[in-house]
Amino acid sequence: MRKPLLAANWKMNQTVSESLDWLADFNREIAGVLNNKDVDAVFCPPFTALYPLHQVIASQKMDICLGAQDLFWQEAGAFTGEISPGMLAECGVSYVICGHSERRTLLQESSEMISKKCGAAVAAGLVPILCVGETLSIREGGLTQEWLEAQLYESLDFWDGKSEIVVAYEPIWAIGTGQAATAADAEAACAIIRDNLREKGAGFADQVRILYGGSVTPENAAELMSGANVDGALVGGASLKAAAFAGICRAVFAENSQG
Ligand code: PEP
Repeated sequence: MRKPLLAANWKMNQTVSESLDWLADFNREIAGVLNNKDVDAVFCPPFTALYPLHQVIASQKMDICLGAQDLFWQEAGAFTGEISPGMLAECGVSYVICGHSERRTLLQESSEMISKKCGAAVAAGLVPILCVGETLSIREGGLTQEWLEAQLYESLDFWDGKSEIVVAYEPIWAIGTGQAATAADAEAACAIIRDNLREKGAGFADQVRILYGGSVTPENAAELMSGANVDGALVGGASLKAAAFAGICRAVFAENSQG
C-alpha cells in the first residue's frame, strides 16, 4: 500500500510573511485530522521561505514536509543564481520538484538536465518529484504514450532502479486551466508511467508514488486519485489558499481511510 502524497507547488507566489501565515492557517484547518501516518503533505514554497518555514515546522513538530521547486546538480561553485542540493537539505527540505513543465518550456530545461538534477537530489538524500506530461496537440495526435515514454527514458537516466523517487504526471493542457484530466485518463497515464518504471526498477516500481497534477481542487481530488496507480497530487493554484489545500488533504484522507 503506497501512502498518498499531496504536494503544494506555490510557484513564484507567497512572500516569507505570507508563507508563515499560510502555514498557521493550514495547521489550524488540518489539526487533528491528518497525521503523516495517513498522508504525506509536502509544501514547495519559493526558496526564500524554506528556512523560516522549516524553523516553524521543526519547533512545532508539525507533520508537514518541505519541498523545493528546483535545484542545480552541482554542490558549489560559479553558478550564479543556482541553489545546491546541500543548501536545500540544510533548510530542512526533503523533496524537490524537477522538470516542471514551466521550467521545461519557459527555461528550456532538457530531460538530460532534469536527469542530472534528479540524480543530484538523490545523492544528497532528497526525493525528486520528476514531472512529465504532454501538450494538448500531442494528446490530440494520439501520441501521449510515446511522449511519456520518451520523457521518462531520458529523464530517468540517473535512476538506479531502487532509490526513492516520485513521478508526477502533469498534462500541460490541464495545468492552471481549470480543465482537469478525467480520472480514467489520469489512471491510464499513471499506469503507463508505472510500466515504464518496471523496465528499470522491476522490484521497486510498485513502491514509487505517482502523482497526478493539473487543476486539482477539493471537489475533484478524491475522484482523480481513485485509480490504482494514482498515489497523490501535485497542486498549483488550489494550494495557494490554506483552506483549499486542507480540503484536498481531507478529501484524500477520507477516501483513504474508507478503503
Ligand atoms: C502545477 O503547476 O504543478 C499545477 C498542477 O498547477 P494547477 O494545480 O494550478 O493546475
